[in-house]
Amino acid sequence: MRIALVSEHANPLAAVGGVDAGGQNVHVAALAAALAERGHEVTVHTRRTAPDQPEHVSAGPGLTVEHVPAGPAEDLPKDELLPYMPAFGAHLARRWAERPPDVVHAHFWMSGLAALAAARDLGVPVVQTFHALGVVKRRWQGPADTSPPGRVAAETDIARRAHAIVATCRDEVSELLRMGVGHERIAVVPCGVDLELFRPDGPVAPRGPAPRVLCVGRMVPRKGLDTVVRALCRLPDAELLIVGGTPRDDEAVRLAGLATACGLTGRVHLLGSVGRAEVPALMRSADALVTVPWYEPFGMVPVEAMACGVPVVASSVGGHLDTVAGCGVLVPPRDPRALSRALLDVLGRPELRASLAEAGRRRAVTRYGWPRVAARTESVYLDVLAGRGARVAVAGG
Ligand code: UDP
Repeated sequence: MRIALVSEHANPLAAVGGVDAGGQNVHVAALAAALAERGHEVTVHTRRTAPDQPEHVSAGPGLTVEHVPAGPAEDLPKDELLPYMPAFGAHLARRWAERPPDVVHAHFWMSGLAALAAARDLGVPVVQTFHALGVVKRRWQGPADTSPPGRVAAETDIARRAHAIVATCRDEVSELLRMGVGHERIAVVPCGVDLELFRPDGPVAPRGPAPRVLCVGRMVPRKGLDTVVRALCRLPDAELLIVGGTPRDDEAVRLAGLATACGLTGRVHLLGSVGRAEVPALMRSADALVTVPWYEPFGMVPVEAMACGVPVVASSVGGHLDTVAGCGVLVPPRDPRALSRALLDVLGRPELRASLAEAGRRRAVTRYGWPRVAARTESVYLDVLAGRGARVAVAGG
């Protein structure tokens, strides 16, 4: 198949760990590569963010990244991109009129708007993955939500018009059903993990004797890093490594201040973003990976830690209910006391750590390898092309 992936803000070639560059970049890059590996011709269309970006970049056999001119050729917050989506869609329409794809897969709601506009007159089916839903973001972030005001209505409209919706977890299915999406048009296909990179054997980052707790992710308040810092106060010796963002981010400054106020100077280390290749060694060096966001559409980081055989303590939200439940420890979000209790247990019991490591690794390998995720995504495309809808496929999600 000729497959067009549309990912307006998340460029698969970009470095991750910044405010707007994280799981979606990794997801689109890995999905595109795994689909190309299956013999498809894949083009990822993403917004041009620098004047010197070539229009087309070959990213491997059968895989091209196209930088779409839409708005200024500079990095902009994703919540400021809506005005440029008509230009983005018009560019796609011109491209696809010359050489139509068989199927379009849009990632994030704004990509859905551009893709549906461009595909309309060509009759090419559009599959939508939201990655995050405005209704959930609004619920948790309230007035701090910087999404354009029309986001929830636009997502409802996209969900109605797309040929199929790929949800990444069962919690997202519940949200979509509440938005009025028919279950027959929803398929559940999880995000994946690179099992070559994230494995128990391999280099281990240097460490001392103190128990090590690791957090990895974008430096934004909803990731709940303050909860982890507060929980650390109750753990006598442990150190906390935080990977992601830069020391200049507002959230990093806030966390550094909180660590000082809690008397944790020297025990909390803000490392900033690290390249993907360095993440596994850091994970292997940790006694536990903690991820306690307020909400989480999927959460690739815990699955990466599981694949490395590292015990995971995660908040009981979103994708974690599918991925971590039963092979890690779930705690309520925003509850430092519950998190410190869970960590005391995990850090104090080597046999519990070993059994969580084993169970997590097994689940990552059996459910989340990218070849498997790409094969399931491909079957959604084939169902759509055959006019069979998305056929809800929740098992193993
Ligand atoms: N990541 C990374 N370097 C960093 C911070 C994050 O490579 O400094 C990667 C991390 O390993 C994971 C992704 O960024 O693959 C974050 O995805 P997740 O789904 O956990 O969170 P999101 O960014 O989608 O909210």
